[in-house]
Amino acid sequence: MIRLSKSSLSRAEKDAVLAVLDSEFLGMGPEVCRFEEELSEFFGRPAVCVANGTAALHLALQATDVGAGDEVLVQSLTYVASFQAISASGAKPVACDVQYETLTLDWRDAEQRLTPRTKAVMPVHYAGGVGCLDHIYRFANQHNLRVIEDAAHAFGTTYGGRRIGSFGDVACFSFDGIKNITCGEGGCVVTDCEAVLDIVRDARLLAVKGDSEQRRVGARSWAPTIDRQGWRYHMSDVMAAIGRTQLTRFKEFKAKRRTLLVRYLSNLAGLRSVQPLQYEPASVIPHLLSVRLMPPANRTEVRSRLEQDGIQTGVHYFPAHRLAFYRDEHARPLKCTDIVADQLLSLPLHCDLSVDDVDFICGALERALR
Ligand SMILES: *Cc1c(COP(=O)(O)O)cnc(C)c1O
Repeated sequence: MIRLSKSSLSRAEKDAVLAVLDSEFLGMGPEVCRFEEELSEFFGRPAVCVANGTAALHLALQATDVGAGDEVLVQSLTYVASFQAISASGAKPVACDVQYETLTLDWRDAEQRLTPRTKAVMPVHYAGGVGCLDHIYRFANQHNLRVIEDAAHAFGTTYGGRRIGSFGDVACFSFDGIKNITCGEGGCVVTDCEAVLDIVRDARLLAVKGDSEQRRVGARSWAPTIDRQGWRYHMSDVMAAIGRTQLTRFKEFKAKRRTLLVRYLSNLAGLRSVQPLQYEPASVIPHLLSVRLMPPANRTEVRSRLEQDGIQTGVHYFPAHRLAFYRDEHARPLKCTDIVADQLLSLPLHCDLSVDDVDFICGALERALR
């Protein structure tokens, strides 16, 4: 079976985990500190490690003072984590449409959904592409909104020559098992906003004031000061050890993902009923290989034919505005999302795939479309 996605782990990750186990300190300690330093160097500004990408988004919202009574503009076509993080903060996620070419937030549609309660916008860097990010920032500045980038797919992607996370308001990354680099479970918040950094550092560890700093030197606060709601959202040294090793392998991952993307794009160019997303292979590190299947292709049939050939596929994503918990009967329709949601198909993409695998997958797709 060719898996849709998977972690790519070497001996080095296993050795790093064993070294932490040998230390018999498994909490947030020296490995997390070093991982934060290395990530901060990677992004060129401070990164705070947390338990997962959803926690990163939730903390970023809390730290930008988004909460009950506020609204956050977010594309419907995303992993439900983006929506859950917003509703966890007490705010209301307002489902927005996407642009057809890139499946990133359509800021013109978002503009139609502004209300006096709109506090922030959460663009999702779908599949690693970022769309018109400077339009989104311009729109946010005009309307005095915070920007929390859901950059879970965009680790390593650049925009205008700069890494995602190295500029802008607040960017949140995920290191879950299938992301561009993994910790098993993990995430980080990247920003140069001191106020946000202070709150995230404390709130990730039950909001014990200064505890993150204490733990850098192996101490902790026995008589805590607590002045806000906090969470158990810190990262453990076991996870950080995996992440640190993956970061050293990132150059290899980056080259591999790009090679696979270029191969896919050239193979798929000949298939009339398959439309890849608009990518800039030179700046994007692809996280997903999503395509749109055009009529008369039948997605269910194509997926089952591929499965018979041992190829796992996926659909990213079921739009959040159709989920019972987030449905809003009075909302304007999301035209592009509703069309594209029924066309989307994700093909296998991970670092243990070869170009021969990509040729095999594309050949099988061609046969399935006949
Ligand atoms: C993976 C992901 C997240 C959440 O990250 P976790 O580490 O799984 O909590 C958020 N948004 C998107 C778009 C994701 O793909």
